[in-house]
Amino acid sequence: MKIVRTVHELEALRPSWRQDAGFVPTMGGLHDGHIALVEAARAHHNVVVVSVYVNPLQFGLHEDFNTYPRTEESDAARLAAAGVDVLFMPGDDEIYPRGRNQQTQVYVPGLSDDLCGHFRPGHFQGVATVVARLLGLVRPSTCYLGKKDYQQWRLIELMVADLHLGATVTGVPTLREADGLALSTRNRYLSDPYRALAPTLYQTLRDAVARATAGEALASVERASMVRLEGHGFVPDYVAVRRAADLASPSAEDRDLVILAAARLGATRLIDNQEFQRPLVPDQGCLHDALKTG
Ligand code: AMP
Repeated sequence: MKIVRTVHELEALRPSWRQDAGFVPTMGGLHDGHIALVEAARAHHNVVVVSVYVNPLQFGLHEDFNTYPRTEESDAARLAAAGVDVLFMPGDDEIYPRGRNQQTQVYVPGLSDDLCGHFRPGHFQGVATVVARLLGLVRPSTCYLGKKDYQQWRLIELMVADLHLGATVTGVPTLREADGLALSTRNRYLSDPYRALAPTLYQTLRDAVARATAGEALASVERASMVRLEGHGFVPDYVAVRRAADLASPSAEDRDLVILAAARLGATRLIDNQEFQRPLVPDQGCLHDALKTG
């Protein structure tokens, strides 16, 4: 595995992947969820490129930028063992050479301010900006993103389409602990009692899916999930059922849905989601016909 730290070094290597690299952008603090993305990339590409960069632009003023885990050595060892070809670990000057407040930023209207974007102003602009620059630097054929950060995945898909960046964006299923908790770099912040409570987020979403597929109104499912989380000591930001493809509010005809939630346990903010399909409910006319013939 080659470790490169500058744009110059990366550009020197780029011809070797002849536009067929799988790319996995990360912020380091790597766990098995990140490795699942690497494995998805390895299954489809001769060259796998991973970036590790803690992007200051996507952290809010009072968020954990300064304390975010930086585990360069163990990250590099894990990635080498997973068969990664190129690890790009740039410093701020390589990503924002003109200064992060001077450089072009990318804003995706709508999705950027919804759901997590509502509670983390500026976050998705920071994410879109860094991923756009990384895609310009690496020029992969496919960029692999985790469905754990569902809104981020859909937003990057949209940005790549809008700017015609030419990469395919692939979402990879969420890797979980045995008790259902989605793996996350931030899980290491959880105290033991909070760690024991954390899987309740996943269980709440699973139960919500069961209720929604049994026909309960989506608004009622959302409300009940908020109440349940509060009852367990979470401070939920939101629980919302949306259309899976674009996170729009679902209409009665939409079948492919996702329920998303963000909730704080102490100072740690957890997010999770579950995709599901709403069963077809026969409309009144069909039901009437069925009763007549049946
Ligand atoms: P991060 O380092 O947190 O920015 O995450 C880098 C990539 O790993 C993102 O595309 C995340 O969605 C993805 N990721 C994080 N946790 C998981 C997980 N538990 N399962 C699958 N992908 C994940």
